[in-house]
Amino acid sequence: MSVAFVLHRAAKVLTLAGPQRPRRGREMSDLCILEDASVAVDEDGRIAWVGSAHNLDVPGDPEIVDCRGKTILPAFVDAHTHLVYAGDRKDELEMRLSGADYEAIFAAGGGILASVRATRSADEDALVTATRSRIRRMLRAGTTTFEIKSGYGLEPATELRQLAAARRLAREDGLRIRTTCLAAHAFPEDVRDGRRTADDFVSEICETILPAAVREGLADYADVFCDRGAFSVEQARRVLARAKELGLGLRVHANELGPTGGARLAAELGALTADHLLFVDDDDRRALARAGVTAVLLPGTSLVLGKPFADGRALIEAGVPVAVATDSNPGSCALENLGLVLALACYGNRLSPAEAIVAATHNAACTLGLAHEVGRVEPTMAADLLVLDTDDPRDLVYHAGSPLAWAVYCRGRRVDRLDEAAKS
Ligand SMILES: [Zn+2]
Repeated sequence: MSVAFVLHRAAKVLTLAGPQRPRRGREMSDLCILEDASVAVDEDGRIAWVGSAHNLDVPGDPEIVDCRGKTILPAFVDAHTHLVYAGDRKDELEMRLSGADYEAIFAAGGGILASVRATRSADEDALVTATRSRIRRMLRAGTTTFEIKSGYGLEPATELRQLAAARRLAREDGLRIRTTCLAAHAFPEDVRDGRRTADDFVSEICETILPAAVREGLADYADVFCDRGAFSVEQARRVLARAKELGLGLRVHANELGPTGGARLAAELGALTADHLLFVDDDDRRALARAGVTAVLLPGTSLVLGKPFADGRALIEAGVPVAVATDSNPGSCALENLGLVLALACYGNRLSPAEAIVAATHNAACTLGLAHEVGRVEPTMAADLLVLDTDDPRDLVYHAGSPLAWAVYCRGRRVDRLDEAAKS
């Protein structure tokens, strides 16, 4: 396979070289950095070679991209998003900032059911178009792999339409997207007003929605919002056990609003991830570590909602593998820039910059079964690369939110200037 181009003489290449399993404890601090190094990318969009710049020896006449003064790292992997939705909830932002609580917002027609109404009335094309513009911004900020959840339908047709929209974006735009059926995101209107019971809805998820998502090949994972005011541990166990039976991997929204047992349930069922984890104790952390569940931290949501931050430091010290993700969604956190959220994981969750980088790349890839493909800079892996306009990766945290992405590649293709490419 011939080499298409070489990112040459970067000040640093963060390879994260090592095993494909999730990193935990001290392993999370090791970025395996090469200095004055180059990365060669083949015609197939794979990494052909990585090493010290003066050892570069590639056949043919590849394009040489001068990367002096730059840092190359694996492109980000966003392991928790709710990107497929219609409408927005910007009005709630102002209500919340002027002191309204969730109940008041809900009473004014806002909250998750507002997104459900908008998403139910949007067709697949509209969902694809809206999501595509969000993903374009995320590509520019350095994310090339996405987990996308449903959860704004709360009935079969819309849940499946959301998942189909995500699959279509993967197909049509050449994106790497893994999908999660989150029908158990909230209770729909007819449960809230007593026309049917919560358990009836749980049965619909187990008997209709999940089997259809699997039958149509639309879902890779299932997720449940197991928390106060949402699904109880018993209800969540029913949904997740059924999902497991259907062959889906498990993810759990756990312990965001209180010590509600979601984290223990994730450990008990061998889930891939337990996400949020604001309220966990030593026993929960031990259970997660023993079961090898990855904790997905979502500090953007804590920031936007003014909530406490999960104790990421304690999770790492307990030996729990940690990932970090945006949680990008229309209500509680519409942040899209995982580079910024990675910085919040340092300031809020008390990760070091190196740990946060591992959390937003390799460890996130592991939770999506993609550790052979993305998350490290090693030969044969996909050339999903982020080139930063700095020689110090700690600038991601130090200058959090600055536009540091100098170039972003997905499978060897530049994806940070798709709009310019479309114009020219
Ligand atoms: Zn979420």
